[in-house]
This record gives sequence, C-alpha cells and structure tokens, in this order.
Amino acid sequence: MAGERVNMVCETCGSDRVTRDAWAEWDSGTQEWTLGAVFDAAFCHACECETRIEEVPILGSGE
Ligand SMILES: [Zn+2]
Repeated sequence: MAGERVNMVCETCGSDRVTRDAWAEWDSGTQEWTLGAVFDAAFCHACECETRIEEVPILGSGE
C-alpha cells in the first residue's frame, strides 16, 4: 500500500526532533528489541519539553 507519506512534528515549534513513549519488547527469535506499544506522551527535543505531535504530509515526490 502506497499511502501518503507523513512527517511527525512538534505542535509548538514544528521540529521533527520528537519522540514518543513506547515499550520495547525482546524478540528471542530475531535477538532484537522490537517496538511494542506506543503511547500518546510525546517529547520535543528542540523545545526540551513535553508536546503534542502533529502529523503533516510530506510534499513532493520523495527521495
Ligand atoms: Zn518543539
């Protein structure tokens, strides 16, 4: 499925240096941590505080 590509940015400053709280779960088959649950709590590393993440479409044809 070739959906519209989006970027996740800080609602306050528009930076994409945002991260979410999540759980990493150990996969004994691949021997890697895999992403489990993703939570609503978001942090902007540009504002250095909690924020809300905004989903914005990536314009253009991409790479
Ligand atoms: Zn920010």
